[in-house]
Amino acid sequence: MALQPSEKHCWVCFATEWDDPSAEWLSPCRCRGSTKWVHLICLQYWLDTRLRVSQQPIRCQLCEVAYSVIFPQMGPLVDSLRVVDRTLTAIGPYGTLGLLVGTAYWTALSYGAVTVVQVMGRANGMTAMQGASPVLLLSGLPAIPVLLILGKTVRWNDCVMKLWQKCCYEPKLPPDNRWYLPPIPVDEPRGKRQFLTSRMLCGALMFPSIAVLTGRLLFPSVTSHLQRALLGGSAYILLKGVLKVYFTQQLFIMHAGRRILNYGDVQRAECHRHGSGN
Ligand SMILES: [Zn+2]
Ligand SMILES: [Zn+2]
Repeated sequence: MALQPSEKHCWVCFATEWDDPSAEWLSPCRCRGSTKWVHLICLQYWLDTRLRVSQQPIRCQLCEVAYSVIFPQMGPLVDSLRVVDRTLTAIGPYGTLGLLVGTAYWTALSYGAVTVVQVMGRANGMTAMQGASPVLLLSGLPAIPVLLILGKTVRWNDCVMKLWQKCCYEPKLPPDNRWYLPPIPVDEPRGKRQFLTSRMLCGALMFPSIAVLTGRLLFPSVTSHLQRALLGGSAYILLKGVLKVYFTQQLFIMHAGRRILNYGDVQRAECHRHGSGN
């Protein structure tokens, strides 16, 4: 059946006004001809399924005229709930960030307080914190874990080791040392930065406990908690530093002194072993 020029037909479902006489028709934009008329239901369905992002205002995709969309009045309660909803959505990210920062701050503060009590002794630590001003407590206590972690990033061992290598140990270089790369300590886990970072953090935060323990073990005659912890901490750092420098240096020497065997020698050694085994 050929379409009459005056006959309405919907550009969404292609039905004419004769297919469903009771349907509500719209001509919502400037379009003429085959895209002039559309069912109200069809246009609403089309907008709901096509426009994933609710753009304002909604426009006809052909003539770009904005549709006049009127929402029914829902009363002051719904209006205020919408304002609350929008506000909460807007401040959500900042709230989360604030909570995270707050949690980190209070964790650092608690850690600082525990450390003060641990290092100075229960009675002295409590007295010191009660005597201090609130500003000092609120800024000083959270600074304790931060300083411990920063202190751990100072790699004084490496400096000592480099000095030692410069003074006492000269590796054999190839004739043309343009291509020479310094040996890598064999036990260093390369490409495992995360592992190293977590090890560093753990070491930094465990340090006060280790210092107190070392102090108790090595300096039982010192009565002051603080002095004992300071002595223990210094002894631990020194001992660990010496061991670490020694260990790294030994790894370096081991790596630099490696030899690669001739294939013939390996074969001969295996033949010999088998021969003597049989
Ligand atoms: Zn339709
Ligand atoms: Zn249009």
